[in-house]
Formats: sequence, C-alpha cells, structure tokens
Amino acid sequence: MEELKGKPENKSQITPFNSYSGYLKRKYRTRAYRVSVDAGFSCPHRGSDRRNPGCTFCDEYGSRAVYQEEVHKTGDRFVSLKNQIERGIGFLKKRYGAEVFLLYFQAFSNTFAPIEELKQIYDYCLNQYSFAELIVSTRPDCISAEVADLLASYMKRGIDVWTELGLQSSRDETLLRINRAHTVRQFKEAFQLLRQRGIKITVHVIFGLPGENKREIMGTINYLAGLEPEGIKIHNIHIPRNTMLYEEYMAGELTVPSSARHLEYVVDALELLPPKTVIIRLTCDTPSERLGIPAVFWNKSLFYKKVRETMLKRNKWQGRLAKFKQEEKDDR
Ligand code: SF4
Repeated sequence: MEELKGKPENKSQITPFNSYSGYLKRKYRTRAYRVSVDAGFSCPHRGSDRRNPGCTFCDEYGSRAVYQEEVHKTGDRFVSLKNQIERGIGFLKKRYGAEVFLLYFQAFSNTFAPIEELKQIYDYCLNQYSFAELIVSTRPDCISAEVADLLASYMKRGIDVWTELGLQSSRDETLLRINRAHTVRQFKEAFQLLRQRGIKITVHVIFGLPGENKREIMGTINYLAGLEPEGIKIHNIHIPRNTMLYEEYMAGELTVPSSARHLEYVVDALELLPPKTVIIRLTCDTPSERLGIPAVFWNKSLFYKKVRETMLKRNKWQGRLAKFKQEEKDDR
C-alpha cells in the first residue's frame, strides 16, 4: 500500500496528510463506505434510557447520525438493525455508487453490554451482508480482555476490525473537567488490550476543550504519536444546546476556537503525527438544529481544502516533525 513516508514529491498530486478517503481508495480500489448502525447500546454514563448526564459536551444523541433509527424506540432490535443495514447500503449505492461496505457501530458505547449480547448483535449484523470491515466505537472503560478477544475473533472472517476509542485529551485534569469518568491510564490499558490482538485503533480527540490551548492540545497529539494509532479522529469542539458545556459557555466560562484557529491546530498536529496514522476526520458535524456553538464554522470540504493549501504553501506534511524512526516501525 502506498503511504506517506516523507516529503511529498509532487505537490499538485498528493494530499500532504494520510486522508481516510485516500486510505480507502488504496485499500479497496473502489468506492468503500461506512454503513452506520445504532444497535441501541447506551454508555456507562447515561443509564439504559440514555438520559443521564454524561460527558459535558454530549447531548442525548451520543454521536448517533441523524439518519440512524433509534432502536429502543422502534421495538425489535434485530428488525431495526436489518432495516438500518438495508437502508444504509441502498442509500450509499444509489448516492455514491458504493461497492464495498464497512459495518460501523457508531452511536454511544458499542461494547457496553454483556459479552453474549455483544456477540449476538455483531454476529447478526455481520451476517446480513459481506462487510469488509467491522468498526466499533466505544469508551476505554468498556474494553476488557474478554471484549477485545471477541472483537479479535472477527478477524478470522478475513476482515479488518477497528475500534474507535474516545480519549479527547491526554490530561486527566481535562477529563475530569469534562466529566469523562475515565482516566488516561484506563485509555492506555484499553489501547494495549486491542493492540496486542491486532485490532486497529482510531483515537478520538477534541481540540478546544475547557482549559486547553495549543500547548495542551499538542501534548495530547505527542502522547498519541508515541502510541502510533492506526487512525485518528480530530474534532473541533462542537457544543450542542442541550449540554452542560453549553451552560458553561453561556455563563462565560469558556471560549471556542474559530475555524482559523482550528486550522492552525490541525496543521501543527498533522506534522507531529506518524505518516502511517490515517486521518479519519478533522472536523465535527453536529446537525444545525442541535448545535449551539460555534455559530459559524467552515464546512468540511472548505476546511479540508484550507488544510491542504496551508500545508503545501508552508511546505509542511504529516509526520515532518514526528519523533520516531519510521524504518524501525515498518515491520510492525
Ligand atoms: S461516553 Fe460517549 S455516549 Fe457516553 S456521555 Fe460520553 S460522549 Fe456521550
């Protein structure tokens, strides 16, 4: 697989970072898309009905895409999952000409259930279609050796298994302030359980959390660069109206980075990250009807365009300042 290993040779032909779309194109040589499902899991913060307060930036949708069906409202979980998969595949085929599909458990914490229940749900969904990947989003404190073993068992089907692990910040002080209810150490333990089994890991981080400026943000990025995750999702802070963080904002207790400031953070972060780490996202999308702050932010395609242009203009590329020796890691 072609990878970014150093300074791009031809500026006009290459994106100066290891984009997810580029990764999927190289891997599958055709149009590959994620099929997102909401299997009705909750998270340790929110209780079974998803209503308890959780992380201060999270509203009751818990990262669920707007088009996903809420399983707990529709009654039969398996009927709902079948519907979601059929609808998702149909939509992606029609809209984008998709040919390869990746099963993505996105909403809330998708390993927060007894192991038998997890297996039943993963098995059921994977048997609905010939998916090329299983992607499971969750929290660090919802990964045990037993869960990691279950996830790893799906690699025997010849598919890639990814876990998306929320960290948000590598500072315990910040995790406490945003009510994450897990520590950096718990994140590291979960990361190692997954890594030891060959499960690919995408880490979520948020830029612009309360009490964090460039120094703290780059501290998180340097921490992650040392772990060399297979993927990273960077979100600019989005504050839905119905959250504790929105109340803090309205009380004048925090500020939110502008598009231009987020761009500067992202460019600096990309230079510190290993070239192999796939950049899954660089911004967050919260539907406008739920979003409180920021009121104005560049849309995704404009933001990506500006990142590319800025990096090329300043002669920067992903990994330029990464503190590790690529040749020692190539046989990982
Ligand atoms: S762990 Fe995830 S779903 Fe649970 S409250 Fe935090 S952001 Fe929301």
